[in-house]
Amino acid sequence: MSGGRKNGRREKFWRGVGVSDGAAVGRVLRVGGAERQNVYRATLEAADVKREIRRFHAAVRLSRRQLVAVRRRAEQLLGAEHAYIFDAHLLMLEDRKLIDEVEDYVRSERANAEWAVKVVGDRLLSVYAEINDDYLRERGSDVEDVLRRLLVALGGEHAPRGLTEDAVLVAEELLPSAVADLDFAHVRAVVSDAGGWTSHTAIIARGLGIPAVVGLRDFYRHARTGDEIAVDATRGEVVLRPSKETAAKFREASSRARSTVAAPAAPAGAAHAPTHTRDGVEIVLRANVELPAEYEGVRRYGARGVGLYRTEFLFAQGGGAPTEDEQFAAYAELARLCGADGARVRLFDLGGDKLLGGGETAERNPALGLRAIRLCLRREDVMRAQARAVLRAAACGRLDLVLPMISDVSEVRRARRIVDEERERLTGEGIEAGAVRVGAMIEVPSAVFVADALAREVDFFSLGTNDLVQYTLAVDRGNDEVADWFRSLHPAVLQSISRVLGAAGGAGIPCVVCGEMAGTPAYAAVLVGLGARELSMTATAIPRVRHALSGIDAAGASEIARECMACAGADESEEVVRARLGERWGDIFPPKSLPPPKGEGYNFGQVGHTATTKP
Ligand code: PEP
Ligand code: MG
Repeated sequence: MSGGRKNGRREKFWRGVGVSDGAAVGRVLRVGGAERQNVYRATLEAADVKREIRRFHAAVRLSRRQLVAVRRRAEQLLGAEHAYIFDAHLLMLEDRKLIDEVEDYVRSERANAEWAVKVVGDRLLSVYAEINDDYLRERGSDVEDVLRRLLVALGGEHAPRGLTEDAVLVAEELLPSAVADLDFAHVRAVVSDAGGWTSHTAIIARGLGIPAVVGLRDFYRHARTGDEIAVDATRGEVVLRPSKETAAKFREASSRARSTVAAPAAPAGAAHAPTHTRDGVEIVLRANVELPAEYEGVRRYGARGVGLYRTEFLFAQGGGAPTEDEQFAAYAELARLCGADGARVRLFDLGGDKLLGGGETAERNPALGLRAIRLCLRREDVMRAQARAVLRAAACGRLDLVLPMISDVSEVRRARRIVDEERERLTGEGIEAGAVRVGAMIEVPSAVFVADALAREVDFFSLGTNDLVQYTLAVDRGNDEVADWFRSLHPAVLQSISRVLGAAGGAGIPCVVCGEMAGTPAYAAVLVGLGARELSMTATAIPRVRHALSGIDAAGASEIARECMACAGADESEEVVRARLGERWGDIFPPKSLPPPKGEGYNFGQVGHTATTKP
């Protein structure tokens, strides 16, 4: 598949899964993956170019010194036969071609050294990636290592920051720590090799209202930082180095998408009015938040506070855990933003492979490993600092604490004890601590089974449908190969949700449903039918969910939900939803807003999402 030529290289087309709306044309910025640092493009004043080249040379010298030391250590510990790898690294650092190309790039483009290393390095890596010899191709990872060392060395000095290009983030998978310190004002789109509807990439992109295509499989290794790229998320298309005509077509799609998205979603004031179904049942709509860039949406779309704050996004790339004071500042800002509606702050929901940078080994099965509450309880120092920060910030406004991935009451008890101890410590130190309610994420099957007991231990439930689907159906939420098995309407999932809502109701505690289902109109209707009265979603989804829920009646939705729960499998329950929503509320759910029958490449969540964007 190809079109015109750009810089002598043909444009290349990819098709993936669009998980948000819109289109964009920009420049590739590769993030995450093997590269631990985010690198920004900054344009230098002509007078600063020489100094920048000196800074680059200093970084090369520093990297060389480090490598010599590492080589010596490796020789002592492992023997000379293992130290040769570092000889190869040293040789690369002495390679005049690499050094000259970086210098030339800094000079000709007036770019900062980090950016030049990244662009030149990416070029070199793509040459390795295409070598038809396994041994030589694998040497690419040595090059990557040397480049990373250089970037870290450059970061040791004061570097010019700020993304000045319109970037399209390209990742294997976009992890929270890879985006923590990015300036999203210049991010035009996001694409990733891995990912599904509920993957981090999709959640971040929808949260920011930017186009995103996931499931591109091998795109990352073909793209180089600085390449031109066109993305159409509505169609799931990505073009690398597009021809002029292709770029123009995508630009047109982009301005079309912007003009429709910018249309007012509701009459002024209506956005902040409570949401009621036609039969008068109030549904509280809250926002999920990952990054400060999303705060504006919380206000604009009239969210009733923040139903889920994913604090793991406070982790900067390679920077480890944020300090207690840094966290305090972030939580206090959130508390002020949300006022009386409050915010639910979740303890770090991270896996052992992504956290703390101190001695964790890669796990074979991170989804079932040392993650979320397990990691918090293992690293009490980190958890205590986070609890203190939340308690202190709660003195500035209403904040609650959410415990992620609870599977047993003992975890709740231990976590609560730690929170209580930190409160006492703060009081002893004369530091004010606010009232904080403690809730549990219900997202694994064992928690569903013991929901009655858990409900007696906590002040509220947060029902995470993303993980609940993943763990109930044993389907990796980030793996596009198994996306067809990710069936949110599976009767087992719906029965679980119903049981959890029942347990919360029985104990008289609130339950907020906060997975991606909540932000998808068709699913939101089913959730209301199951008894949900609080939904939390990416703020940009609130208008379409409000529109859908205001047009249905809760009694009718509960009949549909009951029918679904009685189905034998996901095909049947999806068919029930498809048919009944159309029959009852055809104006809200016209046929094109619902997915085609199974076998035609549907994605229930996605279709429901895009087709009802504009009420
Ligand atoms: C969930 O699992 O549904 C959830 C809300 O949390 P996360 O997507 O961050 O795992
Ligand atoms: Mg979860």
